[in-house]
Amino acid sequence: MLLRSITVGITQTNCYLVGCEGSREGVVIDPGGNPKRILQAVEEMGLTVRYVLNTHCHFDHMAANAEVVAATGAALALHPAELPILQARGGASWFGVLVKESPLPEVELEGGQALKVGTLQFQVLETPGHSPGGVTFYLEEDGAAFDGDVLFAMGVGRTDLPGGDWDTLMRSIREVLFSLPDDTVLYPGHGPQTTVGRERRVNPWLR
Ligand SMILES: [Zn+2]
Ligand SMILES: [Zn+2]
Repeated sequence: MLLRSITVGITQTNCYLVGCEGSREGVVIDPGGNPKRILQAVEEMGLTVRYVLNTHCHFDHMAANAEVVAATGAALALHPAELPILQARGGASWFGVLVKESPLPEVELEGGQALKVGTLQFQVLETPGHSPGGVTFYLEEDGAAFDGDVLFAMGVGRTDLPGGDWDTLMRSIREVLFSLPDDTVLYPGHGPQTTVGRERRVNPWLR
């Protein structure tokens, strides 16, 4: 798999570009800002972007949806429980920031679904709690999971925003993410990558 991470926006969100080496088809996960830098990276990688994927729709994960979808013609895909947040522009007004309106999703995601992009298979895992329709994109063959703001290296997502719920978040981590193999590399929405096994052992919120 081709992978590039770009840190975007005021909250330093990790936007991930993931592509199939053979076909050069790919996805952009969480374009949370800096659309020009994202689109430049798409061009440098020679990617044909099939999907723009939102792990969830807080503004720092969707602020550049409009530009990236318009420039690439990719299909926007997200969980329908995120629609109210998407339509509130990611809740940008809660934080006093201005965000461009996102197009509506072309594809509504649900748990158990898989998106094929070249030889890559993005499995959709439902991981709510930080946000009501939060999902993780899991690439089993590559041992990689893009989990948004659910579980971070040594941290967990906040649950004080509308639709957040601590018990739901804990269930998503313990029953969904921790069911993945220990060597699965977690690519979170903020901060460095980690692994499932490492967080299971050392994450202070989960002991
Ligand atoms: Zn978030
Ligand atoms: Zn975030």
